[in-house]
Amino acid sequence: MVKFHTAQGVPSTGVYHFAGHMQNSSCQLQENEKRIEIVAGEIFPPCLRCKAGAFWEIRL
Ligand SMILES: [Zn+2]
Repeated sequence: MVKFHTAQGVPSTGVYHFAGHMQNSSCQLQENEKRIEIVAGEIFPPCLRCKAGAFWEIRL
């Protein structure tokens, strides 16, 4: 798996999965907030729930 974080550029279009917050958080995401479909050239978003920095990974 390849891991990215909030504010990085998206290298390839695809479905990315939430892989944790960048800092400790008690935030609990809903299932539908744990995956995003995003297009190459866009920027990885923060956590969809608490808006804090987050990690995203793609399963190759
Ligand atoms: Zn969060």
